[in-house]
Amino acid sequence: MPSTEIPELETYHRIDRNELAARFLVAKSVRVDCDPRELDDASLRSVHEEGMEEFKAVWEEEPSPRDVAPTSPSLLDVKVEIARRLASPCEQCERRCGVNREEGERGYCGVGWKPTISSEFLHLGEERVLVPSHTVFFCGCTFRCVYCQNWDIAFDPDGGVEVPPEKLANVIKYRRRTEGSRNVNWVGGDPTPALHYVLRVLQVLDVNVPQVWNSNMYMSLEAVEILEGVIDLYLADFRYGNDRCASRYSDVEGYWEVVTRNHELAYEQCDLIVRQLVLPNHVECCTFPILEWIANNLGTDVPLNVMPQYRPEYRAREFEEISRRPTEDEIRAAWRKAEELGFRWYRL
Ligand code: SF4
Repeated sequence: MPSTEIPELETYHRIDRNELAARFLVAKSVRVDCDPRELDDASLRSVHEEGMEEFKAVWEEEPSPRDVAPTSPSLLDVKVEIARRLASPCEQCERRCGVNREEGERGYCGVGWKPTISSEFLHLGEERVLVPSHTVFFCGCTFRCVYCQNWDIAFDPDGGVEVPPEKLANVIKYRRRTEGSRNVNWVGGDPTPALHYVLRVLQVLDVNVPQVWNSNMYMSLEAVEILEGVIDLYLADFRYGNDRCASRYSDVEGYWEVVTRNHELAYEQCDLIVRQLVLPNHVECCTFPILEWIANNLGTDVPLNVMPQYRPEYRAREFEEISRRPTEDEIRAAWRKAEELGFRWYRL
């Protein structure tokens, strides 16, 4: 196994090596016998469930890209239609604003019906198992972190450009085939408000490439269900060990329940890397409980990235306790805790 691979992410690596088909290609090969756009919500869900059963049967056979041929209408078309309806009224994340985005209304994140993209490029600064990673940065976010390092795009939902799905699919193909990208890394802000758009891109994408969902993990349960059978690796940002800190710094309610639920579902669905950004003065209340929860509920095989690079950006200096970088002692305590709990990978 090459040094840029880790055994716990074997499925992701096999897709990258073209030994396995990416999940979205498998979803595209599962036929459904109806026009998803004509079904009522309940029927659409039921067709989705049946399609997912067939998806799992095909997936168990470990199909190569050559084994899966696109069909129409497909399970992926069903997911596209569900995602479209999930944006109007919008319940893509657990804020559940209920606004009709297709008719121009906007919710907390401010993202319109057509999400805008700030940039896309081959990122060399992600975890070594991911690079070169074709990152697609959406504008807008479902959180309002006071220390956000991408605040210029996260809080300016119209700050990028609208890109037709076909055009982005062509760019993804070029980055994969010509420039050797190892994955498509959907990020922001947060990619959740762009869920319906991401699926439209995959509908027209015809190259085998792993799909990475790089998120704060505050998606609604319905959104996570749609992502099953599409995403190959969650790059999950687990930031807070309690609701109090989440509310204070990111203006989010019910954080712990939602984010732990989504980590469990993500780990059942596919490969997972958890990022934990160590915040100053928050090792005991956030880092330790997060590491303990992962060890107790997901196990110590989960690759972690306990990250030392926090720096006070945006409005962080208004909050004295996070207005500095973490000390060396804080970072060492975080790494030591990960080691004591038995994590094999905690610095990626
Ligand atoms: S994605 Fe945006 S509009 Fe939709 S529920 Fe979340 S914050 Fe509200």
